[in-house]
Amino acid sequence: MYDVIIIGAGIAGLAAAHALHAAGCNVLVVEARQRIGGRIWTDRSYGPVEFGAEFIHGHRAATWELVQRTGLSTSRWGRDRRFALDGQMLTDTDPVVQAVYQLYRQICQYRGPEVSVADLIARLSPSPHVQTLIGRWLANLEGADLTRLSATALSRERRLSTMGEDNFHIDGGYDQLLDPLCAGIAIELGVAVTNVVWSANRVDVILADKRRLQARRVVITVPVSLLQAGQPRFDPPLPADKQAAIHAIPMGHVTKLVLWFDRQFWSSFTVLSTNNTIATWWPVTSAHVPTLMGYTGGQQAVVVSELGEARAITVALEELSTLFQVDAAAYYRNGRLIDWSSDPWSRGAYTYSAATTPAARAVLATPLDPLFFAGEATVTGAEIATVHGAFESGRRVARQILLARQAQIQTYL
Ligand SMILES: Cc1cc2nc3c(=O)[nH]c(=O)nc-3n(C[C@H](O)[C@H](O)[C@H](O)COP(=O)(O)OP(=O)(O)OC[C@H]3O[C@@H](n4cnc5c(N)ncnc54)[C@H](O)[C@@H]3O)c2cc1C
Repeated sequence: MYDVIIIGAGIAGLAAAHALHAAGCNVLVVEARQRIGGRIWTDRSYGPVEFGAEFIHGHRAATWELVQRTGLSTSRWGRDRRFALDGQMLTDTDPVVQAVYQLYRQICQYRGPEVSVADLIARLSPSPHVQTLIGRWLANLEGADLTRLSATALSRERRLSTMGEDNFHIDGGYDQLLDPLCAGIAIELGVAVTNVVWSANRVDVILADKRRLQARRVVITVPVSLLQAGQPRFDPPLPADKQAAIHAIPMGHVTKLVLWFDRQFWSSFTVLSTNNTIATWWPVTSAHVPTLMGYTGGQQAVVVSELGEARAITVALEELSTLFQVDAAAYYRNGRLIDWSSDPWSRGAYTYSAATTPAARAVLATPLDPLFFAGEATVTGAEIATVHGAFESGRRVARQILLARQAQIQTYL
């Protein structure tokens, strides 16, 4: 009988495991993949490149504690944002660019009645070019379908965020952040939890290889998209309010297209937003060869995903050739499409907020002792959909469990 079984070895699960282990609990982490990290996934084929989470958002993010504890080196991301329309680079003084920035500020500061971001964009700007570029920018950031993304929730999250504006790379790879959380923790890799059979003071966790493990409490950190698909299955089923909350938290789409080259054919920039098939490009400076990251979020990511890897690479090289007026294919070395929505253990990239989602996150995060819920979808403040938000959710669930244990001990005394 374990004190706690934690389902999922992403940052939320590992943060919970670390805190509970440090408090003397007998903990086991069970992970479906053959690796830890979940949506943190660093590839090192040509030097560190992030297939999943890329940045620490803000200099006050909770994960700096791990960076400092491990002595990791980080780099501040630049602010040289460019825009291109139909393959043509726009200057910073272009009226379309100016209008996009203004609209971005207006949307982030919106304080009116409930409205979707798509409707708000249409209301605030008549220009199709401005609408497309701002739409792509926000869809990328949020991974969201803009017809569902709530402008009210988005602006509230922006107002509440106190982490700081800058973004930072972990030079040696995001996955290094996980090292200090794993020390001394028992982790079973490559085995999915299929069923959670629970009663007041005992939980049976059934694994895909048919083993049955027992714990007093269980922490569920699987992405909410999996809970929506009934994975794992709960017996008895979760109460109606929990199920309604699970279905009120939409999961966004993101594709990352990494292209490695023999020669750098682009002049330096931080990020380039386009209305092309691949929505955004940025150079990956941690790689050992010239590398571009093509990042596409929201409904456009579904378009990229449907192209498949080979076609997406061909299309991307054509688009880069037009943007930079070179034959990009001549310098192409290798490429990889990472489609988070077709990943069976993620079924999407990260959550975003529709009108009813903020309240649903709070319901999902509420303990149902012996079941406890963590992960980025359970974050109730501004830090949804982030690594540091998921990290804090893991620590929150550890505190909830320790309090529940303490209360139980006191009733025996
Ligand atoms: C493309 C992309 C870019 C991102 N960029 C950033 C960024 O720049 N900055 C940032 O802060 N955040 C970013 N994020 C978001 C960030 O990665 C996530 O919010 C965070 O990593 C989520 O952690 P988690 O522990 O909640 O979930 P996960 O990391 O998904 O962990 C859950 C774990 O549960 C496992 N699991 C699922 N089902 C089962 C089962 N049945 N049995 C056992 N195990 C199971 C999964 O395999 C997974 O390892 C990005 C995400 C993506 C996809």
